[in-house]
Amino acid sequence: MKVLYCVSEAVPYVKTGGLADVAGSLPGALRDLGHEVRLVLPRYRPIPRENLTPLFPLRIEVGGAPVSGLVLEGRSPSGIPVYFVDCPRFFDRGGLYGEGGRDYPDNLLRFAFFSRAAVAIAAQAFPPDLVHCNDWHTGLIPAYLHQRERAGQRSWPTLLTIHNIGMQGLFPAAEFPGLGLLEDYFGPDGLEFWGKVNCLRAGLVFADVLNTVSETYAKEIQTAEFGAGLEGLLSRRSRDLFGVLNGVDYGQWDPRVDAHLPARYGPDDLDGKRFCKRALQQDGGLEPLPYAPLLGMVSRLTDQKGCDLVAAVLPALLKQGVQFVLLGTGDPRYHALFSHLARTHPRQVVAALTFDEPLAHRIEAGADLFLMPSRYEPSGLNQLYSLRYATIPVVRRTGGLADSVVDATPEAVDDGTATGFVFDDYTPPAFLAALDRALSAFRDPVLWRRIQQAGMRADFSWGRSAGRYAALYREAVGRRVGGLAGETA
Ligand code: ADP
Repeated sequence: MKVLYCVSEAVPYVKTGGLADVAGSLPGALRDLGHEVRLVLPRYRPIPRENLTPLFPLRIEVGGAPVSGLVLEGRSPSGIPVYFVDCPRFFDRGGLYGEGGRDYPDNLLRFAFFSRAAVAIAAQAFPPDLVHCNDWHTGLIPAYLHQRERAGQRSWPTLLTIHNIGMQGLFPAAEFPGLGLLEDYFGPDGLEFWGKVNCLRAGLVFADVLNTVSETYAKEIQTAEFGAGLEGLLSRRSRDLFGVLNGVDYGQWDPRVDAHLPARYGPDDLDGKRFCKRALQQDGGLEPLPYAPLLGMVSRLTDQKGCDLVAAVLPALLKQGVQFVLLGTGDPRYHALFSHLARTHPRQVVAALTFDEPLAHRIEAGADLFLMPSRYEPSGLNQLYSLRYATIPVVRRTGGLADSVVDATPEAVDDGTATGFVFDDYTPPAFLAALDRALSAFRDPVLWRRIQQAGMRADFSWGRSAGRYAALYREAVGRRVGGLAGETA
């Protein structure tokens, strides 16, 4: 099947979070299943124009005036063709979505332009069997395709993947006329959400099939607690909504081959992990104690990720002699909080408040425990990485965390399926209780090794998930049979 995969970030070009990891590895896994996948990505500043071939010019009316751009073609290191939407006015900037903690004020126009460029690529360069949209940045694509179809122009089936329902792309209603959509698209059956433009909602209404990135999250977002206001619409479309857990690119994330590590290791020999721990302690100025439990965390520092829970339990844990290494950026409140902790406990706490891919790998390898007490977690990748790195995850039972970590109950330990420590209530005592269980397991080397081994053996490679995406593509295409797709030129 021919798939045009439209996304706002992808490894190895640009990354702010898990979306880029997915976009960097799913297309290759689909290709391995025999599909022809091509990516559409904005050409941001860090992506050099050299080695890209100009394909065709763009002239798209957004914000009431024509904006020019260019489609450039390249190939990713893993051989996936990539169409870059080049428009310096919108994408040649210091950040992807904003700078200094503030979103760019013209984000709606930027991603409307990108979405319409993707439609132009489908029409002029690569007519696909299906357009795969991801998150709010590409949520307008199904609306634009719907409008084309109404006008008797060629259109294509669509799948929209929700990577995080909390990010919807909300903009003032006054900006709607700049999108080039007919007036009736702004209404309760369209993009409108409490008087605002909601880009994700456009995709949720007009895409043929929807999915999110774990089965549990697919159920959760149909409830008021997790649906961020879109639960009603999602429940109405529940027959079209599926859950597919993200996979891991073990070419990048496996301690046997990871080039970022000071030593490599695998399930049969964990000596390298001990070396990685010592190196992480030394680099961070921590006491080089092999028996001090080292807790790691790599995360956007937002309320979603449970930073407040971590801050609440850390003082008690530090008294017990644990060490903590944090890598993350985000909410200035959490920057202040964690840098204060690092200043007051220089031999026990490291707070690296930056984005640092190699350090993320070294924390995965060097830590004993990995913390993900998320309020909600659509899929989560770090817990999957942690399992492979024998770094036992302590997670809240939500979304993809619930679907991928098996709590170390006595029964699960006995039958060899336990891979981590899971808690339910979003409260400091519940989190602390899980950590207490984890720390007492840490003091029992045989038990610890057993849990580590089970995690390292778990297989979350993309193959299976890619097969499920292929099935969703077939589903979306099947729904158009007899419809307008592909019938008009
Ligand atoms: P989300 O997509 O919600 O941010 P995920 O767990 O799905 O969460 O994916 C996060 C990805 O981003 C992981 O690959 C993680 O290692 C990476 N990451 C997050 N923050 C940083 C950081 N400060 N430095 C390096 N990598 C980071």
